[in-house]
This record gives sequence, C-alpha cells and structure tokens, in this order.
Amino acid sequence: MEHEILADRIRKIALEEHFMPPGFHGYSKTFTRLMGGDAQTQLAAQLDDFNDLRISDMDRAGIDICVLSPTAPGVQAEPDAALAARRAAESNDYLAGTIARNPTRFAGFASLAMHDPKVAARELRRAVETLGFKGALVNGHTLGAYYDKPAYDAVWDAMQDLDVPLYLHPIDPWQVPHAYADRPELAGAVWGWGVETASHALRLLFSGVFDRFPRLKIILGHMGEGLPMLLWRFDSRFAVYSQGVTLQLRPSEYFGRNIVITTSGVCSHAALACSLTEMGEHAVMFSVDYPYESSAIAANFIETAPLSDAVRQLVCYGNAARLLKIDHH
Ligand code: MN
Repeated sequence: MEHEILADRIRKIALEEHFMPPGFHGYSKTFTRLMGGDAQTQLAAQLDDFNDLRISDMDRAGIDICVLSPTAPGVQAEPDAALAARRAAESNDYLAGTIARNPTRFAGFASLAMHDPKVAARELRRAVETLGFKGALVNGHTLGAYYDKPAYDAVWDAMQDLDVPLYLHPIDPWQVPHAYADRPELAGAVWGWGVETASHALRLLFSGVFDRFPRLKIILGHMGEGLPMLLWRFDSRFAVYSQGVTLQLRPSEYFGRNIVITTSGVCSHAALACSLTEMGEHAVMFSVDYPYESSAIAANFIETAPLSDAVRQLVCYGNAARLLKIDHH
C-alpha cells in the first residue's frame, strides 16, 4: 500500500534523519528546549516513533529509505567515557532492532563514543560488520576534542578499511564565541552550528587527514554547512597564507573526493546549483533532517529543482545508494 504513494514521486534516500535512543533524553534538553510547548511535544513524539508518524511522512515525501541516527548531541555530550561507550553500544543495538522490524525502509548510522578513539573504532567495526550499519554519525567534537588529533587516525583507519562514511553532524561549540555575545539567536541552528561544523571539517582537511586516508568520506549536512560557496577562496588564500602547512592537493580538490554533502535544511535551488557546480554531481545527496525540518518542503524542493533527470536521480537516490552500498529493491 505504501508503495502506491511512493510511485507518484521520485524515489529518495534520506540520511540525516533522527531518533531518540532510550536514555538519551537528558543529553538533548538544551537542544530541543527552545522549541517549547506543543512543538516540543510533537518533536518528542516524532523522535520516539518508527511506525505510523515516520513511515507516513516518508511515504508522502517519496522517501524510500531513511538512514537513522540519534539526535544531537547524543553520547558526544556524556562526560564519562565508559558510560558514553556503553550508551553508544546500547543505542546501536536498539537501532539495529528497529531496522530489523522494517529493513526495506530503514538503515542505520552508528553512534560512536569518540572519547577513546580505539573504543570508537572497535564499536564502528561491530556496528558495520555485525549490525549491518552503513557508517556512523557523530555530533561534532567530544568535550572540546576535535578529530584531527593524531589519535583519531585509529577511527579513520577503520572507516577507510570498512569503506563507510562518517556523517559529521552539528553540535554547540565547546565555548560560545565572543562574536555571539548578547546575540543568542546566532549561536545555534541559525548560524553557530554551521560555523562550528564547517570549522571541524576544515580541521580534518588542513591537518592532512585526507592525505593519510585518501579514500575516507566525510558527509556534511546543511548544503555542506556553507563551504561550497568558498572553495575558490580556500585555494587562493591557502596558497598565500599556508603557515607552513602542506597538502598533497589544493583544498578545493578534497571536496567531492573526501567531503560530500547533503541538502538537509537548505531548500534553495540557487544553493543547490552552486554546490553541484563546485563539487560535482556525485557529491550532493538529498536529506531532510527529520523531524526538525519538513519532509514535504524538502521533497518539493528537490523535485522542482532545475536539474536533468539523471542528476536529480543521483541527488535523490543514486549517490547515497553508491556511497552506502544500498541495493536497489
Ligand atoms: Mn540534524
């Protein structure tokens, strides 16, 4: 029955789609608190549900498969490393059970406690090899630690070896930058999360992670957190102000090769055109950011975008299917 609705729309895979694992509500208090009232109640119901609410929303938008991940900040906010590792494993087991009940509509990204890179690498291997997950989604830094530190090569080595991507998802900065003083509206989704996440991705790039792991794939949401607009400037200014840092490629060349993006939460045809032109037609993937964004608006945006049928199919389905090794069914 659900496929009668799907047939009317372009088939899609969406990969920044969130749920609330049992025991994770406390981590997200500050994340969802701003919505308040009915909106917060509705959000909580959507995050907990894997049945009618979520499936009917997917059907209406023509979303064939959702790759699910815990909502931010998840275990990245847990101060106790051992507890974080245990919670991540519990969340992964819970998600695996959920996917098993609806394996044609759901896939999973692993939660990883990055407090200890070796523990994270081990859990990634278990999540991919035993639970069948498609990669991992991590909510930015862990208690202020960024993943360009050499110890995290253990995680990158495992990701490259398993040939799965890491979705680097936004989180609050470790310290609120002075630039946002007295301007709380700038600190979160409006601006601050994008800057934080884009900066983390650039730390990986400029520290040479992609030279050491040339097949590693990082996924950025929110139309690449704004980065595609600036690739020319990264090349131009890094050539002059490299501060002694050397890279094997120009900064822009890691985009598309190692950094790929989704359209989550940016339903602008102009921004999509810029991203496809700068990064290539294989580097951009549809996503919604459910339940924080509207699946209907996202679906209408991509279906009405001025794209060829071939490129639209890549953005909606083909690129994600290739990256995540999702078989057509
Ligand atoms: Mn999100």
